Amino acid sequence: MSDKSRKLKSDFLKYIGQTSVNAPLLDMVKGSGSFIYDRSGKRYLDFTSGIAVNNIGHGNNKVITAIKKQTGKYLHANVYGEFIVEPQVILARHITSLLPSQLNCVYFVNSGSEAIEGAIKLARRATGRKEIISFRNSYHGSTFGALSISGNDMLKTGMGPLAGNIRHIRFNCPADLIKITEKTAALFVEPVQGEAGVVVPDEYTGSNLRKKNFLQLLRERCNDTGALLVFDEAQTGIGRTGRMFAFEHYGAVPDILCLAKAVGGGMPLAAFIAGRKIMKCLSDPPFGHITTFGGNPLSCAAGSAVLNTIMDKKLLAGIARKEKIIRRILVHPQIRRIRGVGLMLALVLKKPAALHFFIRKCREEGLITDYFLFSENAVRIYPPLTVTDSEIISGSKIIMKVLDKIEGNN
Ligand code: PMP
Repeated sequence: MSDKSRKLKSDFLKYIGQTSVNAPLLDMVKGSGSFIYDRSGKRYLDFTSGIAVNNIGHGNNKVITAIKKQTGKYLHANVYGEFIVEPQVILARHITSLLPSQLNCVYFVNSGSEAIEGAIKLARRATGRKEIISFRNSYHGSTFGALSISGNDMLKTGMGPLAGNIRHIRFNCPADLIKITEKTAALFVEPVQGEAGVVVPDEYTGSNLRKKNFLQLLRERCNDTGALLVFDEAQTGIGRTGRMFAFEHYGAVPDILCLAKAVGGGMPLAAFIAGRKIMKCLSDPPFGHITTFGGNPLSCAAGSAVLNTIMDKKLLAGIARKEKIIRRILVHPQIRRIRGVGLMLALVLKKPAALHFFIRKCREEGLITDYFLFSENAVRIYPPLTVTDSEIISGSKIIMKVLDKIEGNN
């Protein structure tokens, strides 16, 4: 390790607020396509996409050019919603053109957490109801409201009392849906739960033998009770699962859709999207949500470049094939199963104790994987959508090699 690297590492730990106890402390200096490079010049294949952010790879030229072009015009115009910011309008037009017609109005914000805050406020104001229901093991962000609806107690330790009128029910448990009632303003759900370790909605056979998945049951219960259905697609959105939005796999459309992470191509950007009638509640009375930097023109210009790239390169068409290659290669006695859809996958290890050993060894071999906040034995496999077949094969081979090293393998 060079003197500069050593000093950077110690100053990082000294001056930068720390929350993790498992930080890999990778000193990244450059990203290009599916790869990142550390200060020593070592190259890593990134099978996390910066946790579902760099969906079209690192250092994408279209994104960089769009940001540079906007930089030459202006960086900031006014606080959100009072001046016309062209990059916002262009991006909102494009996003809504990809959505069912009822999701036709976009409010841009800075982060996934802020999108959730906006959606909570909007749902309460639009319905005049107070109760919010969400799921155990859900993660919706770290700000006060988003943390309150997240379904894990560890993150909330010592921070209460959090926001009230919130209930948590079990994902993939139809018996719990009875708890959604006429008192419920909104039900928040990740269509595929991310930090729980990639949990997909189950299918159920009804009395008429017709199959319905869990999200369709949620949609029906919300229709019956008048609760708004909110999909948090911070992780699943922007092509991660092989469709632009994960809900397209499951035949259930939300009343409010939250996007974050990949929507800005690495720039801070997120959004909550609803029908115009619902969204109108935010201007009656006015200033139902205010954000200084939300919908920043640079971020929105980058966001348009992301969508254009996904569409122009027809990236979504190749995702199921890429998933199949991963599933075909990754068959090993140390793998219990692979959960997920598209390039949002979790490798479930037989031995939870091997999790951090596995991630560390992969890194030593030049492959970045990751753990999930609420799973003790799952490894995150989220390659960029632009990953090539040969990159998938070489990453999967590293995984097989490292699995062989787990003790008691044979
Ligand atoms: N919702 C989900 C499903 C997420 O995965 C995340 C971030 N991991 C968030 C919300 C919060 O996003 P942010 O970190 O941008 O606030």
